Amino acid sequence: MENLRLNLTRKTYNELVEASHESPDDEIIFVGIGDREEASWKVTEAFQIKNDSMEEEGIKTSAFYVGAADDFIKVMMKTRHFNSKAKKDLTMIFHTHPHGASRPSGIDLGRAQFRSIYVIYSPRFKTMNAYFWDGDESKRVWNPINHYII
Ligand SMILES: [Zn+2]
Repeated sequence: MENLRLNLTRKTYNELVEASHESPDDEIIFVGIGDREEASWKVTEAFQIKNDSMEEEGIKTSAFYVGAADDFIKVMMKTRHFNSKAKKDLTMIFHTHPHGASRPSGIDLGRAQFRSIYVIYSPRFKTMNAYFWDGDESKRVWNPINHYII
């Protein structure tokens, strides 16, 4: 999957970036669903997931694994991951690093649960990076991939 690419519509990209800048101190989370083709995954819709888990020094952080389970399950029920009748796949798990670079933290690597593309955006540095994790819990390596705005 090294040549895997993520396609984001301009609308989704703008939605993610705007929401990130509206929350300069707290980490935000979106889950994207869409279509998986072999080397190209497309996000057709992205849903914001409430971030209500960890709070450290007044900064909400790294919550998408833990918090807002109801929100998360609602979105996942629209995907084949959780619902065999669904027409869409999980194609992106997005979160922000309000004060850091758009690279995965140790917590990100250690707590990821789904074989998916993970996208991190830094509102501070205005950078976005996408990674693919193949779901191998023994390795937990996120491989950088390219993302395109289409
Ligand atoms: Zn993170």
